[in-house]
Amino acid sequence: MSVVPLYKEDILQKDIRVSIGSLALLGLKDVKVFAKPTTIYLMVEERCMFNCLYCAQARESNANLENLSRVTWPKETFKNVLDALIKHKDDYRRICFQVVNGRNYYEDLVQFLKVLKVSQINVPISISIRETNINRIREMFSLGVERIGLPIDVVSKEHFSKIRGGNFESTFSFIIDTAREFKGKITTHIIVGLNETDFELYDAMEKFFHNNVLVSLFAFTPIKGTPFESHPKVPIGRYRKFQFVRALFFKHIPFEPIFESGELSGVKIDAPKEKILELISDPSNYITQGCPNCNRPFYNETPAGPLYNFPTKPSDTSFVFKDFVKVVFDGKVEFN
Ligand code: SF4
Repeated sequence: MSVVPLYKEDILQKDIRVSIGSLALLGLKDVKVFAKPTTIYLMVEERCMFNCLYCAQARESNANLENLSRVTWPKETFKNVLDALIKHKDDYRRICFQVVNGRNYYEDLVQFLKVLKVSQINVPISISIRETNINRIREMFSLGVERIGLPIDVVSKEHFSKIRGGNFESTFSFIIDTAREFKGKITTHIIVGLNETDFELYDAMEKFFHNNVLVSLFAFTPIKGTPFESHPKVPIGRYRKFQFVRALFFKHIPFEPIFESGELSGVKIDAPKEKILELISDPSNYITQGCPNCNRPFYNETPAGPLYNFPTKPSDTSFVFKDFVKVVFDGKVEFN
């Protein structure tokens, strides 16, 4: 009788990149971290077939291949990572595979998932992947994945194909259609600061939340060696404004946006001033948002700040008022 192996043995000897903070948490690197990750981030493959102008892993990027955004990802054998994941299984609450569409990305990912499925690791698994094949999405879920992140990244219809490549409408529709099939299981990433208008940002978030897609916001981070290395960073006030708007969508609080000359200048909320101040001060608005327990420490920023996404809840949120709030009335907030 032939025995079908659950996974290919040689996958254990394969190298996988691990974010530096995750390596520290797993005891595989002796480095000081300013905030511990609550999710273990693993990178599958390197050197992508796509050519996003902001990405260190893009086909024509000259950036260091150890990087994704501003984080370094040294290599380790999957066997060492697996042993450490088992040993430290009480120290993290999620595993996320960041998939770079390199040569064997899908085959390798499937093998990694098969190994995890038969291991004793019972934490939820997320995958962040640029994928348009629904059968692969189905297969990943069938292999025990809890959530899939399908990043739109760029929400400017005009600039999408130039900055990211591909077609905005079909990418958007694929994410929405997938969320209809896998209710409450799809996350998307939006990078703020890639030539989108305030309306495009608001509109994309509104449609995603309306269709049950969880939005994770990131701030554009210029990476040396990419075509966007000199592209400006997003002003902190603009980012805070959209963190707040995202929180309103997330908490199902009805509001009406106010646009002036194309900019989001405020929101109307049917609530007294005190309640609105309470909503603005909620520290959970300003931490990294996405799949549960994903905190991605210092993915967009250095620990010196400004911190676009806080890896843990800030104890004091008085700073957010000067960042983006001009005035609060009964029923209305005006932004700077
Ligand atoms: S939100 Fe976090 S855990 Fe979820 S796919 Fe994105 S990076 Fe991974």
